[in-house]
Amino acid sequence: MYWQKKLETMDAEELRALQLKQLNLSIARAKNAPFYRSRGLREVKSLEELQEIPFTTKQDLRDGFPYGFLAVGLNEVVRLHSSSGTTGNPTVVFHTATDIDQWANLVARCMYMTGVRPGDVFQNTMGYGLFTGGLGFHYGAEKLGVLTIPIGPGNSKRQIWFMQKFGTTVVHILPSYAMHLYSIVEELGIDPKADLKLRIAFIGSEPHSDEMRRQIERLWGVKAYNSYGLSEVCGPGVAFECPEQNGMHIWEDSFIVEIVDPATGRVLPDGEEGELVLTTLQREAMPLLRYRTGDLTRILPGRCPCGRTHRRIERIKGRTDDMLIVNGVNIFPIQIERTIMRVPGVGKNYLIEIHEERHMDRLHVKVEVDREVFHGTLAELTGLKERLTEELKTELTVTPVVSICEPGSLPVSEGKAKRVVDLRTKNK
Ligand code: AMP
Ligand code: ZN
Repeated sequence: MYWQKKLETMDAEELRALQLKQLNLSIARAKNAPFYRSRGLREVKSLEELQEIPFTTKQDLRDGFPYGFLAVGLNEVVRLHSSSGTTGNPTVVFHTATDIDQWANLVARCMYMTGVRPGDVFQNTMGYGLFTGGLGFHYGAEKLGVLTIPIGPGNSKRQIWFMQKFGTTVVHILPSYAMHLYSIVEELGIDPKADLKLRIAFIGSEPHSDEMRRQIERLWGVKAYNSYGLSEVCGPGVAFECPEQNGMHIWEDSFIVEIVDPATGRVLPDGEEGELVLTTLQREAMPLLRYRTGDLTRILPGRCPCGRTHRRIERIKGRTDDMLIVNGVNIFPIQIERTIMRVPGVGKNYLIEIHEERHMDRLHVKVEVDREVFHGTLAELTGLKERLTEELKTELTVTPVVSICEPGSLPVSEGKAKRVVDLRTKNK
């Protein structure tokens, strides 16, 4: 049931002792990187003293491009990855052979936790390359001893063909792509529940609601587990759902977790929502101290019935910069997703646009509906549009303009879905 029973179930006190020891090792290693050398770090006597160390930000990583965070000699690094940045220098991340091995071990731990075993057939539809979703899971799956198909993203018909021919049982897939791929399966007249052997899907890399997860489970006939990670501290394998599917265990033998107020940086108590801050405890090539992930979540109180003692974080609500302000009202895209997904026949794909109309913001929500729904009567479609408008208004306190779209008409990206288009001139 456990990949590493002792580590996964160690009591809080033992875990804290391990963290303190590893933290000092990380600090000592970090001092070898030009960025941290200038910060005058010193050993800490307790975990509480960690709070005296300043944060490391994404901007610091950009400023340190290309080698400012490298804490070992070039002769010791074997891999470089990069984060999906939008502007400026990309953030690059280095790994020693031991880093790669430890990362693979974390991914294997996550996969094992959900019941994957040798004998399963694992199809990895995430991008291979600088993005960590592909190679990160690949090495983890191989470590676990599972037949791994490194198919990568795209080419939907081929994905399905592989699933059929090799009897794929486990898939790693972007939630947005899982919805899109289902429409191709439908088109081909395949019933995933009867014609495929899939039983587990790992979904992550982008924010998604529990409603979206349940849809994926229903459509594909699988159990879908939320997978969280970021390339700055390795990639997938940082936090993962166990069979309870109630929050993600964050591996505290490898990371120290803090939740801080995004505005003030104040550390918040367990249970309060804020920005996730991570300190790496195992990384050699590029240790990070108090890295501000930009991701909003909270620590779930209480112990998990699965027996693992590592605390759980709640599903990511979005990034601090994902918040939309529409006529002064704060909205997270995931609130919109959650609402539309509750309406049957709606939401396999959707797009949020913000327009500027006569100096006011106007929220447009475009939703794809199932084919049968789309070919319904005008009265049915009008009724659906009104219902969606009403439910979104209740959730957001803003009245959106809802458009019902034909299935397959909204853009689908090969990587992470781009759900929001902000057309306001003031945001250009
Ligand atoms: P990258 O470093 O390019 O892989 O991007 C990492 C970022 O993707 C994280 O900081 C999150 O913002 C987002 N992300 C990754 N996994 C999840 C997840 N399961 N739920 C929500 N957002 C996620
Ligand atoms: Zn658990």
